Amino acid sequence: MVTMDKIVSLCKRRGFVFQGSEIYGGLGGTWDYGPVGSLLKKNLKDWWWDDMVSKRDDIVGVDAAIIMNPRVWEASGHVEGFADTLVECKICHIRLRVDKELEIKQHEQMHVNAEEGKVAWTDPKKFNILMKAQVGVLESDKKDIYLRGEITPGVHVNFKNITDSTRVRIPFGVAQIGKAFRNEITPGNFIFRSREFEQMEVQFYVRPDIGESMKWFEYWKKNRMDWFEKLGFKREKLRFRDHRDDERAFYAKAATDIEYEAPWGWDEMMGIHHRSDWDLTRHQEFSGKDLSYRDPETGETFIPWDIETSSGVDRPLMFLLIDSYFEDDKRVVLKLHPRLAPYKVAVFPLIANKPDLVKKADTIYHHLKLEVGLSTSWDARGNIGKRYYAQDEIGTPWCVTVDYKTLEDDTVTVRSRDTAKQERISLSKLDSYFTAKLN
Ligand code: ATP
Repeated sequence: MVTMDKIVSLCKRRGFVFQGSEIYGGLGGTWDYGPVGSLLKKNLKDWWWDDMVSKRDDIVGVDAAIIMNPRVWEASGHVEGFADTLVECKICHIRLRVDKELEIKQHEQMHVNAEEGKVAWTDPKKFNILMKAQVGVLESDKKDIYLRGEITPGVHVNFKNITDSTRVRIPFGVAQIGKAFRNEITPGNFIFRSREFEQMEVQFYVRPDIGESMKWFEYWKKNRMDWFEKLGFKREKLRFRDHRDDERAFYAKAATDIEYEAPWGWDEMMGIHHRSDWDLTRHQEFSGKDLSYRDPETGETFIPWDIETSSGVDRPLMFLLIDSYFEDDKRVVLKLHPRLAPYKVAVFPLIANKPDLVKKADTIYHHLKLEVGLSTSWDARGNIGKRYYAQDEIGTPWCVTVDYKTLEDDTVTVRSRDTAKQERISLSKLDSYFTAKLN
């Protein structure tokens, strides 16, 4: 069975994710992506951008600054309301979020199991989780600013710039991927909740009409669920969770999370939110700039409504690792979709100290990597079985082995990660073999 310990250990062992600033004892709630982790993350973001922006006519992208005028965060309500409500355990003084019922229950149970008795909690208190920084050269004119707590405002504040500089017409969306920072009180579950993380979001602007906006809300729910299935997620591990009325912001007309069944229980992977005209209206009010939209055909002027799809990058990535993790008595395999796999192919000489095999394998490796353009790995250490296992653990779908027969007849063995079966392929057909598989 897949456990968090197994995932964390695999991530460290194979170079997916390391503790942030590890050699200095770490920094709570920060993580560094290693050589294969950064490739996986890039593949995930590229796929998202490809489907959300490149392949659509109705969504454009932006890449806004992380630090913004502090007034932005007053307008968005973050200065006042971006707070977690916490309670403190009177036995061990850990602070937990009141809304995380499962964590609270598990914590209470832990004390009961340790025969320390039933936990008493302090009264709930609010903690703002915006992270502060300073800008300015001289100490005397340094100004407090915030690192963005979410990437959303960078889109809304550019609404006018985008409609003025492009040909977008409502309904249209604006996509963005970027880092966000939260002074999370209880970071945890590995990269699930950290203090620095990445988000990928679309703000989709529609006419201020309840029927039409709900139609788009439903559209985006389905679109996002279908997308996760396309990435290879098992459908039974995913579900929608509609927000209760008391969880929803007063301006939100509807809100749903897509949840994944993590080893600790169902938890949020992303959210789809009907935010009405709240953000644009607030930024219009606080900036004094007109943020309305004029319909070029009808001449009507209105503040559009916003349907937001807001996902982290790190959570889907971690859930992909969990979902694709497979083990039996022989090996551990990450059955990642080939498009997500850090390396598509690995090339090995069968025996590492035979120069003619190494030379031939090296030519094939460089051909696949540089001429065909496939993310390709090389390994000539240890025995061949160990090399296969190492590639299985990072999810490489195919391994190419060069042996003595290759030198005679220009054929190689191609071994499949998922079946561990091998077939003999002629070098002249190798490129098309992989491109066909990947398409
Ligand atoms: P949670 O209640 O689990 O803290 P949230 O409801 O505050 O999450 P949103 O503000 O809706 O999260 O952010 C959208 C998405 O950004 C989340 O669904 C998640 O994928 C990601 N995200 C938010 N906070 C974090 C974090 N601290 N670490 C990693 N990812 C995060």
